[in-house]
Amino acid sequence: MKKSIMVMGRLDARQEAELAEHFTLLEHSGSLDISRAEVREVLAKTHGIIGSGLPVTPELLDAAPALQVISTVSVGYDSIPVDELTKRGILLCNTPDVLTETTADLGFALIMAAGRRLVELAEVVKQGKWQSSIGPELFSSDIHGKTLGMVGFGRIGAAIARRGALGFGMPILYSNASPKPALEKELGAKRCELDTLLAESDYVCITVPLTQETEKLIGKREFSLMKPSAIFVNIARGKVVDEAALIEALENGTIKAAGLDVFEQEPLPSSSPLPHMANVVALPHIASATHETRQAMAQRAVDNLRLALQGEEPINAVNEIA
Ligand code: NAP
Repeated sequence: MKKSIMVMGRLDARQEAELAEHFTLLEHSGSLDISRAEVREVLAKTHGIIGSGLPVTPELLDAAPALQVISTVSVGYDSIPVDELTKRGILLCNTPDVLTETTADLGFALIMAAGRRLVELAEVVKQGKWQSSIGPELFSSDIHGKTLGMVGFGRIGAAIARRGALGFGMPILYSNASPKPALEKELGAKRCELDTLLAESDYVCITVPLTQETEKLIGKREFSLMKPSAIFVNIARGKVVDEAALIEALENGTIKAAGLDVFEQEPLPSSSPLPHMANVVALPHIASATHETRQAMAQRAVDNLRLALQGEEPINAVNEIA
């Protein structure tokens, strides 16, 4: 008998057809709200779930006794309790690598947009306020030759640093759980303590995953260590930063500007001052959101789910099931 799966969110028709060849696609309302009887009914039958930002809780897992694999269409899996899955013998697959370069493109775009005040100055033109040569109050900051501090130096951190070092001649500092000697050699990058990185970097870019150790890694004390001319970029997860402290630092000139793709709460609540601040470029969590990359991520998640449910080794397993 075919195993059953829940497809949460969008796959393209070809990917759905590929899954339907091997599995029964369970019909559902698109919700994982287990307070609803119809959701519990579908969950009770499912062997696999594929989707992104899945709100997985122990209660949801209790409602899904046949579940064998969760295949997330993302590299980050901070919304999923991995230890709980492992305890229950459920495999978690994710989609690293296929999104690295696209995410790094956006990270570097935010460095450039915040550093060169692109959005703010485009608005000057759009509003018809460009009536004479702009003066120093609207000058921006150089990017080339400035020091880029990478907080997290994994796949995406390295890809952003590569753009900075090789494309813009930026000296690279990094703080990371483990040393990266190959990248030090390739990019001339120097590993240092986080406090040193914050004090010495012109651009600080966050690419660590959200974990218990990295939650609110950057707060009031950390912003106070940064240069008043520093540009702060976060493309990892909003909760790595104390957002209230970030807002305060941007308002009172502790740092100069920020480029943000991620926020403590998403979508950003209308009460947030961040999108209204001239020194902030705020984006709706789009670092991997190109046609090509979202397609590649979905395909990788489909491949992972299919392989794992067929008892083969998936391309990307997060946990190990004995
Ligand atoms: P990765 O290759 O695993 O890189 C993460 C790096 O962070 C690793 O080098 C790791 O060190 C380091 N790290 C982990 N915990 C740390 C800690 N407590 N202190 C210092 N360093 C620590 O992951 P990736 O593919 O680059 O992705 C990074 C994150 O980007 C994802 O987890 C996701 O949250 C985020 N992301 C966001 C978007 C978006 O749309 N905005 C898109 C893709 C990814 P080791 O090398 O020593 O393990």
